[in-house]
Amino acid sequence: MLKVERLTKTYRAAGGPLTVLREVSFELEAGASLAVVGPSGSGKTTLLGLCAGLDRPTSGNVVLAGKPIGALDEDKRALVRNAHVGFMFQNFQLVPTLTALENVLVPLELAGKGGLSTEVAGRELLERVGLADRRDHYPVQLSGGEQQRVALARAFMNSPKILFCDEPTGNLDGDTAQAMIELIFGLNRERRTTLVLVTHDHELAKRCHRIIRLKGGLVISDETV
Ligand code: ADP
Ligand code: MG
Repeated sequence: MLKVERLTKTYRAAGGPLTVLREVSFELEAGASLAVVGPSGSGKTTLLGLCAGLDRPTSGNVVLAGKPIGALDEDKRALVRNAHVGFMFQNFQLVPTLTALENVLVPLELAGKGGLSTEVAGRELLERVGLADRRDHYPVQLSGGEQQRVALARAFMNSPKILFCDEPTGNLDGDTAQAMIELIFGLNRERRTTLVLVTHDHELAKRCHRIIRLKGGLVISDETV
């Protein structure tokens, strides 16, 4: 489902080039779940973005759903993302001028698949994350945890084969975090969605089949649970 080959990312920064990922390699089967852990600044978000085709590596390659995406331009990567990928950002990135339901429908609108049946699917997903009664609320009218659940529903809207989540429980208290974990793994079981999760949350990491630990852009451990 996902193959990462000697992935390296160097940013051009004011003080000179900054290498934040060094020769990271791993392979993930369909339906598997991976937790990427490590201290702040170790390259987790950068790795997630490269795997999902949001950004391009400096060297190395990513094969996503059988397609090498490392060298593709933004438009071609967007096509692959639309077809296969769900992404839940660390800061949600909901559209402030759209309601919860409209936010959930964005991926299909982008894919040109709007319409009544998708609206029904969007309502069902909002129900699934426990927000049926918040459908017409705007992001500012929602709590952090509710926004995070809208972001999860949106990430599932295009029925992704692979879901990337950056700190999905980062802004949640204990009970809400547990509910989010159950939701993600419930959807993973029901739909066989491959999961790649960046997290500081020990409970969440423990639920994954595999844990990769990063430090200073290097993989320092890779364990199958
Ligand atoms: P993590 O998610 O593990 O906290 P990140 O992947 O966000 O780490 O960042 C890794 C390192 O790369 C950090 O030192 C960060 O400052 C740097 N970095 C991230 N994005 C950029 C960028 N666009 N330009 C320059 N440096 C960046
Ligand atoms: Mg991060």
